[in-house]
Amino acid sequence: MSNQDNPLLQSLNTELPQFDNMEPKHVLPALNHILESNQKSLERLTVVENPTWDNFMAQLERLDEQLQRVWGPVTHLNAVKNSDELRPIYQESVQKVSAYHADLAQNEALYAAIKQVRSDKSFAALNDEQKQVVEHALRDFRLSGAELKGADKERYKAIQMRLSELATTFEQHVLDATRAFELHITEETDLAGLPDSIRDGAAQRATESDKYESGWLFTLDIPSYLPFMQYAESRVLRERIYSAYVTRASEGELDNAPVIDETLKLRREAAALIGFDDYGSYSLATKMAENTDEVVNFLRELAQKSRKVAESEVAELETFAKANLGIDELQAWDVPFASEKLRLHTYAISDEELKPYFPEQKVLNGMFALVERLYSIEIREEPAPKWHKNVRFFDIYDKNSEKIAGFYLDPYARAHKRGGAWMDECTVRFHKEDGTLQLPVAYLVCNFDAPVGDKPALWTHNEVLTLFHEFGHGLHHMLTQVNTRSVSGINGVPWDGVELPSQFMENFCWEREVVDLFARHFETDEPLPDVLFGKMLAAKNFQSSMQMLRQIEFALFDMLLHTEFLPEGDRSVQQLLDEVRSEVAVFTPPSFNKFQNSFSHIFAGGYGAGYYSYKWAEVLSADAYAAFEEEGITNPATATRFRESILAIGGSRDLMEGFEAFRGRKPSVDALLRHSGIQ
Ligand code: ZN
Repeated sequence: MSNQDNPLLQSLNTELPQFDNMEPKHVLPALNHILESNQKSLERLTVVENPTWDNFMAQLERLDEQLQRVWGPVTHLNAVKNSDELRPIYQESVQKVSAYHADLAQNEALYAAIKQVRSDKSFAALNDEQKQVVEHALRDFRLSGAELKGADKERYKAIQMRLSELATTFEQHVLDATRAFELHITEETDLAGLPDSIRDGAAQRATESDKYESGWLFTLDIPSYLPFMQYAESRVLRERIYSAYVTRASEGELDNAPVIDETLKLRREAAALIGFDDYGSYSLATKMAENTDEVVNFLRELAQKSRKVAESEVAELETFAKANLGIDELQAWDVPFASEKLRLHTYAISDEELKPYFPEQKVLNGMFALVERLYSIEIREEPAPKWHKNVRFFDIYDKNSEKIAGFYLDPYARAHKRGGAWMDECTVRFHKEDGTLQLPVAYLVCNFDAPVGDKPALWTHNEVLTLFHEFGHGLHHMLTQVNTRSVSGINGVPWDGVELPSQFMENFCWEREVVDLFARHFETDEPLPDVLFGKMLAAKNFQSSMQMLRQIEFALFDMLLHTEFLPEGDRSVQQLLDEVRSEVAVFTPPSFNKFQNSFSHIFAGGYGAGYYSYKWAEVLSADAYAAFEEEGITNPATATRFRESILAIGGSRDLMEGFEAFRGRKPSVDALLRHSGIQ
């Protein structure tokens, strides 16, 4: 097969990837071709004399685009159309692409050339987007140790290698410890309270294991653990499985305590080498938050304002448990169980009651009608090359009927498709070298139930929220006005700001005026009854303060651990966690709880000194939405301002500046507290 016949390489020059012809056998030839060609271009580029935007940075942008054109569809297919044939090919490809990126990040000639672009007198004449791309590139090189010399450089490299080993070890310990426990139940009476679907799953797990022929098997994996904690009436068994869960990776060979100590020490040392006081400050160098004090104060303000309501929520739970469940002293292993009973008791509302009001096409039409009104756009379904027959494609037109973007929607769960829901970029908006504008295209992927028979697909309100959330990410990518690739759409947006546009969209799903745009019974066309809507709203804020404080406990622990905590000092990690708990928690876990030893987000994921991002983005999105509450939920003038100051700017401008331009002031926590029923 020649390169010309390879659909992945053909996709370099077509508007959309040629999905209908792509097969796993096309991946490696296409990828090898692009990596080789990029490598050659890079060698030529790094010896360019007097590098400038045009002869250097623009070329780097072009190389990124080339690779993304080929690699993007492959990662996408790996997620939505996996197969035994693709899997090993994908593994091999990931290694090649990672190696390519790792080389780029370590390429000193490249760094020197970008510095020259920055100091050249032509820099002043670049537009803000281009300047930002240069500044970001320099910043990222600096943060990965490019300014270090001699022994410091070697030390920094060694630390990074060790940190990456530690992260793997941490995660491995958690996995092994999770696997090491099982609860095999042989008496049916011990299953009291558990729904049939959970029992069936546990019975299947038992027969599929090599060890047991019958009975019911429960593990510490979330789909097994959570329902057990919520429904099992046996208090003794709940305590047993809870104790196992919260002490994972805290004993013997699998103990993560030494891994944590070493990680904290090395992170602090690495941050100091780059010139930061602590790892928290290092982490914030690429984020929206100004400094670690700002984050800590923000978390403490939220905690303090949520405290009173949270205390009353705990009191309500304790009273309920005593009166209705015979639990005199509420323990940590009773909380999910009692909460679920209280929720049912107070807000009896089931998904099955609501689903008939959320049929697929009505929900889509309603969501499209909303954004069409807000942003003066039009969404039209169009033909396009697809990877599955259930995938749909839409174009977005502006008010002059000019096409500005497009998106795929892949709504249903199916075999060989990764679970969950996400938005990803297919193509990015930017000005090409030939002067034409490439339009942004997004993938919106969900895993909702497909239609059965001639009944339309009926979605839960939670699924509607998910759809709005992902569409919010999509609009961020598609309504961008940026013309420079690396800072266009969701590119170059700080981590603690990416969830702003998505969480913002969720707010509309709780608005009667908006819900009326789509919530109609699929058979009778009757609008969602007031009683049901009222129950939905009431259920929304069930225990919201308790949950708020739990998230703040994790976030504050994470930030203090990476700022004021001294790994060599007298205070232990456990002591710090205890202090945070006594400051924040309204329900203190038992002293044997070693939650930190399985806190993979911050020790094995990318959330070290970044866990606050969840709450941060929630505050910003709620506060942005409050502007619509003040000026009119579907007010096009407010929406235009939101689009111009926040959605359109991508990574080309400071997001906090954009927020302040939109709101006319700094963010406030009040809207989130009000939306959560706290204020
Ligand atoms: Zn999201």
